[in-house]
Amino acid sequence: MANPKTIVDLAGLSLSHGEGRRLDLPVRLAPLELAGQKYVAPGSVTARLDVSRPSGGYAFRLRFPLRIEGPCMRCLENAALETEVDSREVAQDDTDDEELRSPYVEHEELDLGRWSHDAAVLTIPTQFLCRPDCAGLCPVCGESLNDADPSAHEHDTGPDPRWAKLKELKLEEQ
Ligand SMILES: [Zn+2]
Ligand SMILES: [Zn+2]
Repeated sequence: MANPKTIVDLAGLSLSHGEGRRLDLPVRLAPLELAGQKYVAPGSVTARLDVSRPSGGYAFRLRFPLRIEGPCMRCLENAALETEVDSREVAQDDTDDEELRSPYVEHEELDLGRWSHDAAVLTIPTQFLCRPDCAGLCPVCGESLNDADPSAHEHDTGPDPRWAKLKELKLEEQ
């Protein structure tokens, strides 16, 4: 699943050390996928990119609002989440320190499309729910327990065998 490319030519910004630039750029997002589950994201967003030039490299901040849709992890109903992507990267020119080398920067080019996609995936919560108190599915019949009459799910699973044993003992005592 190739993400549509959005490349920012950093050299073209001609920033001197200590300078910064704010850019609002359209970015196309491919569908987001986490743990085999697909989440629908808006086709395109306007990403706000802050570029600054501390000595010896670049520093970036990326922000955009994001609406994600997908199945609730408990009840599988469609759920939606309004959130905000806020991500930072640094890219030092000459360093062997992996922490200071951004995977999105190469030859003075910032791969904004790929970074936006990865940052969006990271904002998907590990518990993606239709609502915080989602009651999930009934373990017996598999129906959603949200807005369900609790008595409708008191399924008759037969008497607990332990009680039957107890009754037997009582009968023997008499
Ligand atoms: Zn749910
Ligand atoms: Zn049930």
